[in-house]
Amino acid sequence: MGDSAHRVALVTGGSRGIGRATVLALARDGHDVAFCYRSDDEAARAVEKEAAQGAGTATGTRVDVTDAAAVRAWVTATEDRWGHIDAAVTAAGITRDNPLVLMEDEQWRQVIDTNLDGVYHVCRAVVFGMMKRRAGAIVNLSSVAGVYGHGTQTNYSASKAGIIGFSRALAKEAGRAGIRVNAVAPGFIETDMVAAMNDKARKEALSSIPLRRMGTAEEVADLVAYLVSDRAAYITGAVLQIDGGITI
Ligand code: NAP
Repeated sequence: MGDSAHRVALVTGGSRGIGRATVLALARDGHDVAFCYRSDDEAARAVEKEAAQGAGTATGTRVDVTDAAAVRAWVTATEDRWGHIDAAVTAAGITRDNPLVLMEDEQWRQVIDTNLDGVYHVCRAVVFGMMKRRAGAIVNLSSVAGVYGHGTQTNYSASKAGIIGFSRALAKEAGRAGIRVNAVAPGFIETDMVAAMNDKARKEALSSIPLRRMGTAEEVADLVAYLVSDRAAYITGAVLQIDGGITI
């Protein structure tokens, strides 16, 4: 299974939201996709079924991205199965919002462990195989909160800013090996992550978005699918905002 026309992608957090839409977009484009999730088996099986309607396939595995050994084992199993990994997309992420004055150590740790250490674990595990093949595309999900900061989200903003620094550094380091690394920074996207917003916060958010709506997971997934494709062969180290203009 080592032919270069055969595209293999790895996606974290693929059972729901942006990760799920990315799995489906990449399967639609002909990738065999290995995705992971933390707990929702039922959602993962539904994604596998839906992906089977595309040109590729999707296989979900329960892997906690905070667990370096589990991530390594999952990446190795994927390489053993398909021969190589062309693309890695890190979409697993959580929020634990609180003003800093009330922030609990556990809230800080969980967000950094999942959002930032999780990206490190995945990229650390895939980069060697990509270097050996002198090809690969990585897309890490950051956030506009990582670019501009967001009140009550010091933990989340720090993790997402960390992802930007990490992605740019890796783009510089691995470019000569033919590996591209980009970050995508969404604004408000209609997923479970923003479903918890109360009506007042939602209204306020909508009024500050020039396009007057939240984005969809599919819109973000299309950008990710473009970035991992050869059509984006000269794009690396970029931080692409997809936010309806909220940061203008
Ligand atoms: P979501 O709907 O809450 O889905 C999160 C996904 O990540 C789920 O599949 C979940 O699996 C998985 N996950 C969480 N913790 C994990 C862990 N420790 N190990 C493995 N998988 C884990 O999130 P989303 O809104 O699609 O967000 C996706 C990414 O985009 C995140 O990095 C987020 O920060 C970023 N983002 C989102 C927005 C937005 O407005 N939605 C804006 C900017 C950036 P289980 O269901 O099994 O737990």
